[in-house]
Amino acid sequence: MALLNTPGTSILQSGMLSETNELVHGFSTKLLGNMGRENKHSTQKIADITGFPQERIIRFHQIHGNRIVSINNTSTRIIEQCDGAVTASVGILLVITTADCAPVLFLDPCTKLVGIAHAGWRGTYKGIIATMITKMIEMGSKTEDICLVIGPHIAGCCYIVSAKRAKLFTSMCKDPLTVNKLDGKIHLDLGRAICEQAMKAGIQSSHIENTLTCTNCREDQFFSYRREQGKLSGKMIAYIGWKKE
Ligand SMILES: [Zn+2]
Repeated sequence: MALLNTPGTSILQSGMLSETNELVHGFSTKLLGNMGRENKHSTQKIADITGFPQERIIRFHQIHGNRIVSINNTSTRIIEQCDGAVTASVGILLVITTADCAPVLFLDPCTKLVGIAHAGWRGTYKGIIATMITKMIEMGSKTEDICLVIGPHIAGCCYIVSAKRAKLFTSMCKDPLTVNKLDGKIHLDLGRAICEQAMKAGIQSSHIENTLTCTNCREDQFFSYRREQGKLSGKMIAYIGWKKE
């Protein structure tokens, strides 16, 4: 995965998505501070770094589900009970927050659809990635044109799960490396499960970028729910949208 990653940066970007003109996207690091919605200055900060006005920045009350909504110019600024969205409207920025769950960005350069999804184990297990791809196809995309980028999340090195949760994934995924036993503990590779779900839905492997940087390992770069053990000090954002010409 080619995240354009310079030390000390507050925003990471995908090499693949950076090739598209007028597309604005990024994944914040902890250097940008706590970007959770509970920080009432966070939306203004997003406006400052992206150039989108606050009223065109769409945020979500995330619930680890698989609902994807379509956003247009009349949508409200906060979407209730929702973990993903798609839009073709110019001038709208879709923003989710994460701290170990995987942020996933979607692009179809042909239909100009962009999407975003918050995919933790629950959302992934409920099929949020496949749901997004189905939604994009309903809105005119062809699977061969869709690209996706999986942003920084807790990686297989650190994501230790219960036998019960592991079983959900071994029954859903064919890839034997999605669930691994290491030193008597079970490790889940969420990014791998997301890749498999996308490929099963018809996405070409060359159109998928999976960030291999781990939010739990990289304390210098990321907040991590797991590392901070319920005393989370902040969240990162992921965002995507078309800027106005
Ligand atoms: Zn790790």
